[in-house]
Order: sequence, then structure tokens, then C-alpha cells
Amino acid sequence: MTRARNPLAFIDAELDDLKAKHLYRPLRVMSAAQGPVTVVDGREVISLSSNDYLGLTHHPRLRDAALQAIGEFGVGSGAVRTIAGTMAEHEQLEADLAVFKSVEAVLTFQSGFTANTGVIPTITGEADLIVSDALNHASIIDGMRLSKAPRKVFPHRDVAALREILHDAASKGRPDGAGPYRLILVVTDGVFSMDGDIAPLPGIVEAAEEVGAAVYVDDAHASGVLGRNGRGSVDHFGLHGRVDIQVGTMSKAMGVLGGYVAGSQALRDILVQRARPFLFSTSHPPADAAACREAIRVMDDEPWRIERLWASTKRFKAELTRLGFDTGRSETPITPIIVGDSEAAIRFSGRLFEEGVFATSVVFPTVALDQARLRTIVTAALTDEHLDRALAAFAKVGSELGIIQA
Ligand code: PMP
Repeated sequence: MTRARNPLAFIDAELDDLKAKHLYRPLRVMSAAQGPVTVVDGREVISLSSNDYLGLTHHPRLRDAALQAIGEFGVGSGAVRTIAGTMAEHEQLEADLAVFKSVEAVLTFQSGFTANTGVIPTITGEADLIVSDALNHASIIDGMRLSKAPRKVFPHRDVAALREILHDAASKGRPDGAGPYRLILVVTDGVFSMDGDIAPLPGIVEAAEEVGAAVYVDDAHASGVLGRNGRGSVDHFGLHGRVDIQVGTMSKAMGVLGGYVAGSQALRDILVQRARPFLFSTSHPPADAAACREAIRVMDDEPWRIERLWASTKRFKAELTRLGFDTGRSETPITPIIVGDSEAAIRFSGRLFEEGVFATSVVFPTVALDQARLRTIVTAALTDEHLDRALAAFAKVGSELGIIQA
């Protein structure tokens, strides 16, 4: 039977448009484990594209913990947490994370993304105001979209502008004249995922304290990277007890999968009752929870990993700058190499790939249209020799394409 009309034909047109604008991203397929060297689309490459900061995705202790949990509990949890999907491993992981983060209580989610989209609409509503950094992660933006709370955006990392918004909001109250806001919530990434810069958390906390606002920090890229043994940005800045809500991910430096929210017991309790991804989506496989628990222990037992991560990061960044690349305002292992034009970024990434280096391009809408870049992340698993080989490829391709002077 032939159809008179394809109602989804507009999708083909949209795809063609993306391709014409060099904004179409094909998926790269890996046929080996994540690691400093992996196999992508059949080619062995040095990987500068994963979030596996500490090299834990393939750590034998995490693998063994997962295998043991599979033997004991099977492969799936079988239900959402609030019905029959809370296993001892989930609760133990949350207890371990609460100790690691020095907070009263932790609740885990299936991912960092669902943590943000679950927490923000649960704790904010019409009577509240959310004040958000302009470059916050997509999952924070989606969390705000799901909330009934009005929101204001402050320019990226601009504490003075934030302070002005907060004082204005606190003195004027709700726009409908219904009195003061119930909650003013300041939300920021701890480390910004596309630029690698760090939120000015001490200034944010001070400004929030002046008006009694709460602070919410998404530490997806600070978990395992900043603070003692990777305890995150609150620990890095010595702000324990002054940040109300910390979100973390177990999908990046911890090497597994999942998100978590660290804060008070009351926060955990209300999320268990109301956070929609928690209530309506199946919990982690027990093996993932077991591997995450082991990741916390490894982070404490093997501090050389974070030391190595930072030593390699400094060297890699210094060399890229010496070669003449623009690494923006990065202060962490996330090292963008800003090219500007999408087509140039895609060509740069493609040529590096041919030279055996996997450094993915990031284009609109992940970054602004004229801010296309390669986004690299150094990991603790990369040796000096890997980094030297990668840098040689960057120098060769960068000058070949006119991105740096030969
Ligand atoms: N928040 C930020 C700041 C992130 O960079 C990411 C990952 N891209 C997330 C949340 C989502 O974390 P996950 O991958 O665990 O869903």
C-alpha cells in the first residue's frame, strides 16, 4: 500500500538543512573499551573526548564490584525506587556519598540529567524565583522549564550582576504583588561543561546569603576533579554548610552512570515523595550502584589519579597555548580549542582523526554559532607519550588548516 503523503517529510528537510549548515553530527562508534587509546569507527585513536577523567570506566576494582553484584542481584532492578526498585546497594551508595560529600543525606537519580530535571521543579513553584547563570547546562535549563517558577538569568560568572538581581528581587518581592518570594534559588554549574571555567562560588554564596537565597551547584564536571579526592567545588572553595544543594554525576569521573543530589535529610525526603524521574523511572541496575560505591573508595585510595589528571592538564594546556591555539577561559581538564566556524571545527576534528587523535567538534546548539570548537578532556589514564603524540598531531593539522601559524 502506498501512502499519499509522508507526514514526517519535514524531518528530511530539517536534516538536509543541518547538513547544509555543517551542524549535523554523525555518531562515532567505539568498538573497544573507553580508555586513553580506543577504537573509533574501526581506527585506533588517542582519546581526548571522554569524560572519564580518572580512568575509572575500565578500572578492575569497579568491574569486579559490578560482576559480584550481578552474581548476587542480577542485571536489573525491576522497578522504580518507590515501588520495588530500592535495593540495599542503592541505599548504601547514598550513605557512602553522603559521607564523601560531608552532607546529611544523598538521593541518587538515573543520571545527572534526571537529577536536575527532577530536583528543580520539585523544590520550586509559582511563589519562587530561580536565578541562573547564562551558560548553565541544558539539564538545568530543562529543569527550569519544568518548574512553574519565574526565572532570571545573570551574565556568565558575573557576581555583581547576580547581586543586583538578588537585591532587587528580595526588596520588590513577587511581581504579582503577593509578597516576598518563598524561595530565591541561585543555580550554577560548578565547572562549565563547554568552557572548563569554574563558577565563582564564594562570591555567589556571599551574594545569596545577603538576601537569604539558597544556592544550588551542579558539580557534574567538578565531581572527581575539584576538591579533596574529587569531592567537588564546595570542598574546593571550603564552603561546606553554605551551599544548600549539590548535584553530582557518577557518569563522568566516577566512570559509571547516574546522578545524585546532596543536601539535607528534608531535601532527600521531599524528592523521594515528589521528584518525577525518581517516582516514574526504573532505578539503577544494582551492578552500577555497586561499581559507583567502589569508585568512591578508589578515589580515596588512589589520589595519584587526580594528581596525574591535573599535572597532565597543565602540561597539555601550556603546550596548546605555546603552539598558538585559543583555549578560551578554561581552568580545568575541559580544554576547548576554539575555532569559531562550524565547518572549520568539523574539518579540524576530521583531520585529527585521520592522524589518530579523537577530539570531537562541538557546534551549535551546544555552543553559540560562532563559538564552534574542539572540546578536549585530558584524563589521568593518558601517558606523557600519548599527550606528546596528540600535541604533534594538533601542531601538524593546526598549521595545515591555518588555525595556527606554521
Ligand atoms: N550537568 C552538567 C553540568 C553536565 O555537563 C552534564 C553532562 N553533560 C550533566 C549535568 C548530565 O550528567 P549525566 O551525563 O550524568 O546525565
